Amino acid sequence: MKRKIVGFHQDEVGDWVADLECGHTQHVRHDPPLSDRPWVLTPEGRRRFIGFQLDCKICDGEDIRAGAPPGQSVPPPPSLPKDSGR
Ligand SMILES: [Zn+2]
Repeated sequence: MKRKIVGFHQDEVGDWVADLECGHTQHVRHDPPLSDRPWVLTPEGRRRFIGFQLDCKICDGEDIRAGAPPGQSVPPPPSLPKDSGR
């Protein structure tokens, strides 16, 4: 499924990762000749790809679990009932 890029960040080893509008992420490595993306190395190049659409495999239902994403959202703990003690 095509998803727009809304931002970029680097992972722990310095590889660039695109943040997609659906909340998923996708690596956009510059690793020629397999992945030729010299634009990802410059701030201007990355800015140009904001809004560019990538195929999100996760939205397509292909659950690729090659390592859990670093930013796992944890649901907040249930709030305690307000018991106005004396
Ligand atoms: Zn997605």
